[in-house]
Amino acid sequence: MSGVNVLLDEVDVPSGQLSRAPRYLSIALTNACELRCGYCYAPKYAAALELSRVASWAVELDGAGCLGMGFGGGEPTLYRGFVELCGRVAESTSMAVTFTTHGHRVSPGLTEELRGSVHFVRLSVDGVGATYERLRGRSFAAVTSAASLLRSISPLGINAVVNKDTIGELDDLVAFAADAGASELLLLPEQPTAATSGISNSDAERLGQWIRTTNVPMQLAISRTGLDASVPGVEIIPGEHPSDAYLHVDAGGVLRANSYAQTGTPIADSILDAVQVLREAA
Ligand code: SF4
Repeated sequence: MSGVNVLLDEVDVPSGQLSRAPRYLSIALTNACELRCGYCYAPKYAAALELSRVASWAVELDGAGCLGMGFGGGEPTLYRGFVELCGRVAESTSMAVTFTTHGHRVSPGLTEELRGSVHFVRLSVDGVGATYERLRGRSFAAVTSAASLLRSISPLGINAVVNKDTIGELDDLVAFAADAGASELLLLPEQPTAATSGISNSDAERLGQWIRTTNVPMQLAISRTGLDASVPGVEIIPGEHPSDAYLHVDAGGVLRANSYAQTGTPIADSILDAVQVLREAA
């Protein structure tokens, strides 16, 4: 990404000239993960995408104007061919390559292999210290080291699930993110799953109040799925349909509106054809 800012709210683009691709696509490469977070919404059946399919989708999306592709899971660093895939997408497209990781497989060797092939990395850190260790079952010192390694190869974002355990630690998370040199903090209010009820109404209100009253010294992003009423936000491109901004592919090759969506469109040969089908069904 060049870093050039473009003011779009003065440009009225006819719908026929809009890109066929979303601005950003996230892809769950695999459902596999060795952690057992209680609020995890990744499907619990084994599935992984073929590397050649993902690489061909990247070329197709790049040609249609997509700006970035983000790999997740499960845990994407468990995906066989992960380094090769990042390298292929970085070399064959002009898109930004990003991934989201729990960080506990990050090593100096892996970061060196990825250097030059990724443009942004998201590290999942839910709460700090003992809270993190209780929720994730892993050492907080280890994720702190992972943040340092990842920051050495690309700009870093911190992803944090907000729930009853972490809502009181948002200021501490900001301090952690600042110390780690992060340029973005992404807050993810807990979503309901078979195992959890999701963020409570009172904690959602508390989150909205924190956002309104806290000066965060980095970019603050929030997933507002289901929380539009209590959590403030801005439209990045006024009037943009959500499917023009973002879509998600699960590890079974189904295109969905987002990673929480219950239904979607299986991708056959062309991902742009699947995008069209999903948009027409919306
Ligand atoms: S690290 Fe992520 S994918 Fe793995 S169990 Fe936790 S929430 Fe799920």
